[in-house]
Amino acid sequence: MTIRREDAAIVEVAVAGPAEVGESPVWDDIAGELLWVDIPAGLIHRWRPGAATVSTLRVGQPVGAVALSRTGGLIAAVRDGFAAVDEETGTVELLRAVEADRPDNRMNDGKCDSAGRFWAGTMAEDERPGAGGLYRLDVDLSVSTVLSGVSVSNGLAWSPDDRTMYYVDSLERSVDRFDFDAERGRVANRRSLVAVEVAAGMPDGIAIDSAGHLWVALWDGWAIRRYAPNGGLDAIVPLPAAQITSCTFGGPDLRDLYVTSAASGLSAADLRLQPHAGAVFRVRVDVPGAPAARFAG
Ligand code: CA
Repeated sequence: MTIRREDAAIVEVAVAGPAEVGESPVWDDIAGELLWVDIPAGLIHRWRPGAATVSTLRVGQPVGAVALSRTGGLIAAVRDGFAAVDEETGTVELLRAVEADRPDNRMNDGKCDSAGRFWAGTMAEDERPGAGGLYRLDVDLSVSTVLSGVSVSNGLAWSPDDRTMYYVDSLERSVDRFDFDAERGRVANRRSLVAVEVAAGMPDGIAIDSAGHLWVALWDGWAIRRYAPNGGLDAIVPLPAAQITSCTFGGPDLRDLYVTSAASGLSAADLRLQPHAGAVFRVRVDVPGAPAARFAG
């Protein structure tokens, strides 16, 4: 099999940043705008491609992920749990606390499934193995524990036929797959799809295209990778920053892959080598994604 190394891919700096930890990019296909968060800074950004300015909402605590709601507004995985965010008023309302007994944990990556449930996981701030979990916020606002003993809960995606859920616990260095029951929101039969070699960095956020191929962001990997549904490595797109955190499809044809990155923890010497660390990049791809699913609660 040939692995395409797309050094000639069109990679642009879409938004210069710099973010401490840019994350959770999500395309608002109704507004034609990109949202993303800066986790430790507790910021939710919104930007219209081509605009010179970014509008920013201060959450008041770290925010791991954000998703759109069907009724307008946003749902977010903040440090303390699941929260509703009103962009008009700037109000952040904690709907359900998560792991209130574990103050050293915070929520991390999250995403909505096709039925409008919001899934998000947690991690210990010191990345202590096994301290976190994966949770599901149902449309009736009940919270279920999906997984416990998770280390750094990260990327989520569902196959176009909705029969498979993909999931990344970064410290496992694996992209896992589950059988997915879309009607009941249940997962079963976890197994590894892709074992990411140490030299390639740690798998972080993921996005899936309409052909069912997964794009995987690589923390400390200077790249995103595309994997086939059978786990085969299809393409590598090098990027001008080491800490690549996540990606999502946007633009009018959903073929602009927006990729977030982090400047956190880099020395002055590192930053001279990667002046775009913390930027949002845009990579033009051949196969489009699907519009982001919205929370139905
Ligand atoms: Ca992440």
